[in-house]
Amino acid sequence: MKLSDMRDLLARHDIQLTKSLGQNFLHDAHQLERIVAAAELVPADKVLEIGPGLGPLTERLLEKAGDVLAIEKDARLIPILRERFSAPRLQLLHDDALDFLKRESRDWHDWKLVANLPYSVASPILVELAAGVRAPKMMVVTLQLEVAQRLMAQTDDDDYGVLTLLVQLDFEPRGWFKIPPGCFFPPPDVDSACVCLDRRAAPLLAEPQRKIFYRLVKKSFSQRRKMMLKLLKQDWPRERLEAAFAELNISPMERAEKLSLEQFVALTEKLPLA
Ligand code: SAM
Repeated sequence: MKLSDMRDLLARHDIQLTKSLGQNFLHDAHQLERIVAAAELVPADKVLEIGPGLGPLTERLLEKAGDVLAIEKDARLIPILRERFSAPRLQLLHDDALDFLKRESRDWHDWKLVANLPYSVASPILVELAAGVRAPKMMVVTLQLEVAQRLMAQTDDDDYGVLTLLVQLDFEPRGWFKIPPGCFFPPPDVDSACVCLDRRAAPLLAEPQRKIFYRLVKKSFSQRRKMMLKLLKQDWPRERLEAAFAELNISPMERAEKLSLEQFVALTEKLPLA
């Protein structure tokens, strides 16, 4: 789908794009091919696409994968998509994807997420999907470069934080590439990147402990510059925390950004279930 085709379609349907819906459509064939290649699609794959827009990625997904479920919030785009695609393998839903994911709580474990996400809801969508045994086996997502850096960050990086840990608990970043603003219509004000995340072969924590991990991470980063032990004392008994820190050789003066994912996991295992 060329830029001229996108412009024609939008003009024919008298559609003005909506900034709040993150409507920056990807028209660059090379970048679309890189995204699809990163998803390593085979005909047996089931793919979830969030925000198909005018369908430049959808058409490639339908070529390479099996079933595609595409969820689009903008009602004006639904008839265009229906007109463009007749494949029975495409299920098109008109819905807010975040509401849908929360409401349906489906099992995505044998699905891949391949999407050029609406930037304003990219992080909550990823956190919602990444959690737990029902998470997709792979997520190949295009989003704001700044968010991509948080997803790939390592301990002590500036971008390391809550999003990093909530997603990396279940996913390992495999690679990424930058997508320049000129590849989109209209070009966004920010840089973009495609990130590839693979679900871990085995979960690092059992299901009941995940809630503790989330609480621990969120509390530890609630005031980034403060010693995390001090912050955690608001939620857990002091003696229990001090013993856990000592057993794990973590200094009581440490700040959250210095602790690795493995240390957060180990600390979670030492804390009582709420
Ligand atoms: N996939 C298309 C492409 O690559 O050109 C469009 C990507 S555009 C960045 C994001 C798309 O997500 C838009 O079509 C927008 O209408 C849609 N969208 C925005 N918020 C959404 C939501 N909460 N749920 C589902 N779709 C949403």
